[in-house]
Amino acid sequence: MALFKRKRVKDYLEDAEVKVEKQTEVFIETKEGLYDKLSRSLSKTKNNIFNKMGSIFSSEKIDAETLDKLEEALYTSDIGVKTTEKILEEVKKKIKDGENIVNIIELIKEIIIEMLNKKTVEPQISAKPHIILVVGVNGNGKTTTIGKLAYYYKNKGKKVLIGAADTFRAAAIEQLEEWAKRSGADFVKNQMNSDPAAVAYDSYKAGEARGSDIVLIDTAGRLHNKINLMNELEKISRVLKKLNPSAPHEVLLVLDATTGQNALNQAKQFSKTSGVTGIVLSKLDGTARGGVTIAINQEMDIPVKFIGIGEKIEDLQEFDPEIFVRSIFG
Ligand code: GDP
Ligand code: MG
Repeated sequence: MALFKRKRVKDYLEDAEVKVEKQTEVFIETKEGLYDKLSRSLSKTKNNIFNKMGSIFSSEKIDAETLDKLEEALYTSDIGVKTTEKILEEVKKKIKDGENIVNIIELIKEIIIEMLNKKTVEPQISAKPHIILVVGVNGNGKTTTIGKLAYYYKNKGKKVLIGAADTFRAAAIEQLEEWAKRSGADFVKNQMNSDPAAVAYDSYKAGEARGSDIVLIDTAGRLHNKINLMNELEKISRVLKKLNPSAPHEVLLVLDATTGQNALNQAKQFSKTSGVTGIVLSKLDGTARGGVTIAINQEMDIPVKFIGIGEKIEDLQEFDPEIFVRSIFG
């Protein structure tokens, strides 16, 4: 399959060889393993799209009616109006009239992969310590994502520190501390209700002193008081900038895929003020609405960098358009 011949596979295998030489106990997933796991996790979305697409197979050849059905199938799969239009435009350009219907699925996959690739940026590490601020509405999966990210970076041989700047609830700090233990990351906390920006400051300083490669900072996400929340996130960024003008190096917005179009609306709101540089789409395993990943990728100027596909520490993947599209379109 073409999927496994791409440049990133080679890089990945080279990485894997280095790890094996070092004889770490890290579990190395192959590209095929990532694809198999993602296909399983996205089965609800896959079934949803498959059921919707089913209607176009009632005709053998592609004509105006099949294209209408295709449009409806894509639109009702959470791919969004604008993105569905873009896909249809490309399909019309590339399809030959009367072509066999079977070819259309392969064509759609190619079109969507190309569209997603144009807007996809791989996660980079640009400084030491590389500061990642994690933001988003409560319940979206920020704290869980931080645990998974700590594990992800540990597997890449990085030294990781986690800072608990969601000081709103004691339980939130404890939950994060548990993830730090599980992933083997250092942990910085202060008391409940202490100033989040001060925790961010301490986390930066501790990361610098301990030689951390990555500092992950958790934040609160109370919705009922949006302006305060945005001010607080800006204050955290300001304090970090005083320590290092290029920090935070990444602001990851965690969105809950199960909310469909609402996730896209949240992305638009947050990106207005909090300097978001990347999106993590969580809970793709539990939803039939995974098509929203395509809408978010296309409608936002911010790349989707990671996807969450379960509650366990290893249930996070870098967003890879080809693996993703082949997982949901079969
Ligand atoms: P926060 O309030 O944004 O920090 O959200 P949490 O990290 O506390 O997560 C809220 C809930 O979502 C928890 O029950 C998590 O286990 C769950 N969760 C987070 N990410 C995922 C995911 O990718 N898949 C599934 N199924 N559940 C997730
Ligand atoms: Mg949390």
